[in-house]
Amino acid sequence: MHELSLSLNTVDAVVEHARQQGFRRVTKVRLAIGSLSCIESQALQTGFEFACRGTMAEGAGLEIKMIPAKAWCEDCCQSVSLQARGMCCPNCQGYRLAIETGEELKIKDIEVE
Ligand SMILES: [Zn+2]
Repeated sequence: MHELSLSLNTVDAVVEHARQQGFRRVTKVRLAIGSLSCIESQALQTGFEFACRGTMAEGAGLEIKMIPAKAWCEDCCQSVSLQARGMCCPNCQGYRLAIETGEELKIKDIEVE
């Protein structure tokens, strides 16, 4: 499961960061996910709870924010928003789009004790 390995990596990074800063517990994690990343937030939530078990992030809350994807349209030469992969340009209905953002998963911030 794609989301489980993402969760494990995310929790690893969060715990490592909190430990370096000298904190004892992670209480909340906020993630930003690009809308084209094919990550299911429900699966990510489940994976996250599993990955937190037995770590200092056990029981931490998870907030997921979707980032709308952006692409550069080579036909009308501007940056446009995309709702989903495979969409055409909302301005000119062209398909010559280069995706700029929307495929990432980022840790936005964490709350610690
Ligand atoms: Zn266009």
